[in-house]
Amino acid sequence: MDSKQDKGFFGQPKGLRTLFLTEFWERFSYYGMRAILLLYMFDKTMNGGLGFPQATAASIMSIYGSLVYMSSVLGGFVSDRILGSRRTVFWGGVLIMFGHIVLALPFGAPALYVSILLITVGTGMLKPNVSEMVGGLYSPEDTRRDAGFSIFVLGINFGSLLAPLAVGYVQGKYNYHAGFSLAAIGMFLGLIFYVLDGKRNLHEDSLKVPNPITDEERSSVIKYIGIGAVIVAVLVALMVFTHTLNISNVIWILSILGVLIPVIYFVIMLRSEKVTKVEKSRVRAYILLFIAAVIFWAIEEQGSSVLALVVANRTQLHFGGMNLQVPQFQMLNPFFIVLYTPFFAWMWTKLGKKQPSSPTKFWLGLIFTGISFLVLALPLATPGKISPLWLVLSWALVMFGELLISPVGLSVTTKLAPKAFGAQMMSMWFLADAAGQAINAQIVKFYEVNDVMYFSVIGVLIIVFAIILALLTPKIKPLMKGVN
Ligand code: GLU
Ligand code: ASP
Repeated sequence: MDSKQDKGFFGQPKGLRTLFLTEFWERFSYYGMRAILLLYMFDKTMNGGLGFPQATAASIMSIYGSLVYMSSVLGGFVSDRILGSRRTVFWGGVLIMFGHIVLALPFGAPALYVSILLITVGTGMLKPNVSEMVGGLYSPEDTRRDAGFSIFVLGINFGSLLAPLAVGYVQGKYNYHAGFSLAAIGMFLGLIFYVLDGKRNLHEDSLKVPNPITDEERSSVIKYIGIGAVIVAVLVALMVFTHTLNISNVIWILSILGVLIPVIYFVIMLRSEKVTKVEKSRVRAYILLFIAAVIFWAIEEQGSSVLALVVANRTQLHFGGMNLQVPQFQMLNPFFIVLYTPFFAWMWTKLGKKQPSSPTKFWLGLIFTGISFLVLALPLATPGKISPLWLVLSWALVMFGELLISPVGLSVTTKLAPKAFGAQMMSMWFLADAAGQAINAQIVKFYEVNDVMYFSVIGVLIIVFAIILALLTPKIKPLMKGVN
């Protein structure tokens, strides 16, 4: 059927309903789990927690977040070459559900590591492919595509808005494992919708494997997996032998990997013979925007690590007659997205062709991001607990930055992508978030040393970077060769 005829979901193709609901429940399970995971890790064992030091817990949150997006590279490969997007999303969801079930069982730290592995691989399979399937609902000339993506992003954020409230409530009333069970139920519901609604609404094409792997390639992939496994085994053996196998060193290795993977990608693109001269120039422009995105995501994602620690350690939770819970603060991020989205949609439509270029939106976004940290340094410098309104203000600022960077980045990524790398560029965008959190895993430890210094130094550095980007903007634009 011609995609334009299908208007069954708010004027959009009915398949969008399926993907919206699937991603709504997947993000519900992910952000619900994350809203209580930090607490679970550092809470005392007598309260049902794991009793980790706070700095370790914050680093694990970051490196976990990084892995989840790093694995989108793997998910892109599985869908493109082996299973096709429809099946990859399904099996990804199944792995995620089991990841939450494992955490729902009372098996302590080992269960946490198994769960991290399952959810990392599962999300890598589900997330980039579900976004790609949204793009696939529209024919190239269908102008509803951007609006479709905005609705989809709202679905993500409705899921992450509801999750901390529901999962936090169940955890508060019962215990951590009950909270994680609710996350598992969320993913189960997502899978049900995906299968039943998808049968009716998703296109047959999503069942096909776009570029099936050949027998020769299969054996070389198996060879590489074998080599990879041997390298990991040797590394682990070496670490055991030298008594260096501990959480902190594993986090170090993963942090380096998180930064290295995008660097390798860029080198390959710039050297590839399949990439034209014009495309290489665009890749150079994209590298600068990518660095800006890494910095942005590093700060945004600290909302669930460092800012959550500020809430747990230094914030008045009895406020204005309310008894606030730590997980509830995780609702501020999606809340502001939902609140701002109509304003941005209106503004970009109104400005039309007069709207600022992507680099300009990026540096503006970073200014808001830097200020969001500076406003926390102020109250933290005084002794005692701070008003929760400071945190609301901080989130209000960084999320304004998010709307200047995240949707713009997604669209500019597809526009600046070299043809030969088209499909992998969606994963590339998630690698910016992965690299940001890989860096976080190393820097969040400094929060414990001195919180005021932490927020002021990082806040100032970000603003300095934003100014550099602003000064470079006139030089970046010509490199983009006609893309805005
Ligand atoms: N909050 C976003 C989500 O969960 C982050 C992903 C991104 O890096 O774009 O979808
Ligand atoms: N803003 C995040 C994302 O865009 C959601 C969250 O952190 O709750 O989906």
